[in-house]
Amino acid sequence: MNRLNINKKWDYSDALEATDHIILKEKYDLFINGEFVKPNSEKYFDTINPATDEIIARVAGANKKDVDFAVDSARRAFKSWSKIKAKDRGKYIFRIARMIQERAKEFAVIESMDGGKPIRESRDIDIPLAANHFFYYAGWADKIEYAFPNKTPKPLGVAGQIIPWNFPLLMAAWKIAPAIACGNTVVLKPAETTSLTALKLAEIIQESGLPKGVVNIVTGAGQTGAEIVNHPDVNKIAFTGSTAVGKLIERSLAGIEKKTTLELGGKGANIIFEDAAIDQAVEGIINAIFLNQGHVCCAGSRLFIQESIVNTVIEKLKDRMSSLVVGDPLDKNTDIGAINSKEQLATINKYIQIGKQEGGEIYQSKCNIPKKGNWCPPTLFLNVSQSHAIVQEEIFGPVLTIQTFRTINEVIEKANNTPFGLSAGVWTEKGSKIFKLTQALNAGVVWANTYNKFDPASPFGGFKESGIGREGGLHGLKAYLKFE
Ligand code: NAP
Ligand code: MG
Repeated sequence: MNRLNINKKWDYSDALEATDHIILKEKYDLFINGEFVKPNSEKYFDTINPATDEIIARVAGANKKDVDFAVDSARRAFKSWSKIKAKDRGKYIFRIARMIQERAKEFAVIESMDGGKPIRESRDIDIPLAANHFFYYAGWADKIEYAFPNKTPKPLGVAGQIIPWNFPLLMAAWKIAPAIACGNTVVLKPAETTSLTALKLAEIIQESGLPKGVVNIVTGAGQTGAEIVNHPDVNKIAFTGSTAVGKLIERSLAGIEKKTTLELGGKGANIIFEDAAIDQAVEGIINAIFLNQGHVCCAGSRLFIQESIVNTVIEKLKDRMSSLVVGDPLDKNTDIGAINSKEQLATINKYIQIGKQEGGEIYQSKCNIPKKGNWCPPTLFLNVSQSHAIVQEEIFGPVLTIQTFRTINEVIEKANNTPFGLSAGVWTEKGSKIFKLTQALNAGVVWANTYNKFDPASPFGGFKESGIGREGGLHGLKAYLKFE
């Protein structure tokens, strides 16, 4: 249909974000006790731009001694940080928020260079939301007693925080802001492939005058994370990452008095009813699965379309996919950037092979993919069923499975038939259906006629294998307090 194919005629000129204002050090040390210090391990690893395969900096790999030093400095800082006036704690956090805003462009460019996400997203989503988290929790710092009336909330002590590579600065903000607002101190480990914005945040923290040792940032691989988890002087572990590592952490902390929150994987159902506003729903499907190349824990990676509108939705979806621009993350026209690492690309390609072997019908839009770097075109799988691995397992890439349904009860059953319970989307013009589904779907967040909307004031977290506990909002404060 020509009417639908109008997008294909668009050809955009390059619109590259400038990088000449970016200053990256050749080598990044650990941030402990308010200073950048050389790692005891003496080891550094490369951090790579996944769109060009170029090494953009080297980053310290912390060993057990380094983690001991960071925890020790957090412990010493806790003594005074937990006692200073709550409104002063708030002032520091407000200052950090404002400094992120001032340097937003620099952060956005580095996030896209180090992690591969389109500049449009790091500029409009990641960095503003990270600043918002600091603003939001800065506001709570001197109001915590009102948040929990008739209770005496006290900070926990030292929080060990481990984050993934899909929203690097934003995840650091989710973790650090509520923890320090409550009077805790922090040892945070960013993911190996995306340490740079956390280290830039360390520069801001240093400049902000935050007392030394309140926030410590130790870079390194999984083993560094394990050292934090198993450190006897850490009071709380906040982990965001895969379900497999989450289970490992649960096992190693069983019977030990350490509070944990685990934000793990997902396989969100995105449900389109025949009475939905179809064009908006198609836009919602695209956003739900292709945001950040599908590297999103709450991605709408399982699409359920009511049978009567299957052909229309799929036709419109394929048409919309044909207009998605895949390529240079630093180009403002880009919709889908680079896959974060070679390992993740191999995982996605493995699932695409499995999908084909299992009998799924694959559709990929035709797009010009750069020669260097890690790329995956937006992908659909039709003719799949509940038992297929690509329907059950988290792929964490731009791959959408499509199933159909006839009745509301059928789709509830199918949507809930997964080990995960993190997110879901519902598209319908009927409020009654929305209410029924928000009750019936076993998911921590259910979006209605929208998807992937985040706000620091709303709690986020999963059921089943998607995790334990909530981050964001008041719930996010509670996770960093004890009540005596
Ligand atoms: P991952 O492999 O579990 O890694 C997460 C973090 O844990 C990284 O910093 C990693 O370090 C570290 N780590 C690895 N092994 C460890 C161990 N044995 N002990 C302690 N820490 C260890 O996950 P990922 O691949 O980075 O991230 C993708 C996953 O995160 C997906 O499953 C996604 O759904 C989930 N996620 C969940 C949420 C949520 O809020 N529910 C949000 C975002 C992402 P290295 O990077 O050095 O390996
Ligand atoms: Mg990188």
